[in-house]
Amino acid sequence: MTTRTSHEYHHLHGLLQQLDDAEQTLAHGPRRIAVSEKKVSAADQACTDQKEQIQLLKKSVDENTLNLKSREAEVTKLTLRLNEASSNKEYDIIQAQMASARAADAQLEDQILSLLSQVDEANDELNRLMEEVSELKQKTADITAETKSIEPGLKSDIERLTTEIAEADAVIPAGESRTTYQRLRDAMGPAAMALVEGGFCTACNTGATSQDIVRMNMSEFLLCRACGRILYLIREE
Ligand SMILES: [Zn+2]
Repeated sequence: MTTRTSHEYHHLHGLLQQLDDAEQTLAHGPRRIAVSEKKVSAADQACTDQKEQIQLLKKSVDENTLNLKSREAEVTKLTLRLNEASSNKEYDIIQAQMASARAADAQLEDQILSLLSQVDEANDELNRLMEEVSELKQKTADITAETKSIEPGLKSDIERLTTEIAEADAVIPAGESRTTYQRLRDAMGPAAMALVEGGFCTACNTGATSQDIVRMNMSEFLLCRACGRILYLIREE
């Protein structure tokens, strides 16, 4: 009676799955950290852009304010000239010039007010963005701490599972079967093996022949004709 039983195949498959889970979880942590850090730097960049935008708006306010002041000086000059006007005609012309200058000033004042409210809005947005950065930084710190805390456990799980698999895969016959097993494992991990249920490969749903079932019942090394996985079934003892 052979010691290689279908249960040993099943046990090996279970260990391969556990190892894969542990390895995936271990690799997932640093990926999550990287994604989170990317979000932080994007949010940081948005803050920098927003600050630049605010600087541009403020510069525009300053320029327009300066412009308004020099225009007001112009109106003052016109007022002086108005007082010195030597004819009604000249008086009317200067008055018309003053009216149009005042209208232009009013427009400029509106523009400055609008720019100032844009600065306020841009500052609100900057505050929102800065809050976002600090939230994202906190989240990154949390993910990093979580990753670090589960890492030692995962590493020791992987070490233990690797040892257990090295013992459990003695169920695979030496020689060509073992080479095939190693190749499939390297390529597919736990998907190298597939349980047969109700006469069908659970990975690709291809039916096993009655000959296959007999061979599996004898715990022979058998590959699925369709998907190439190592087949096994759980034999009722
Ligand atoms: Zn299959």
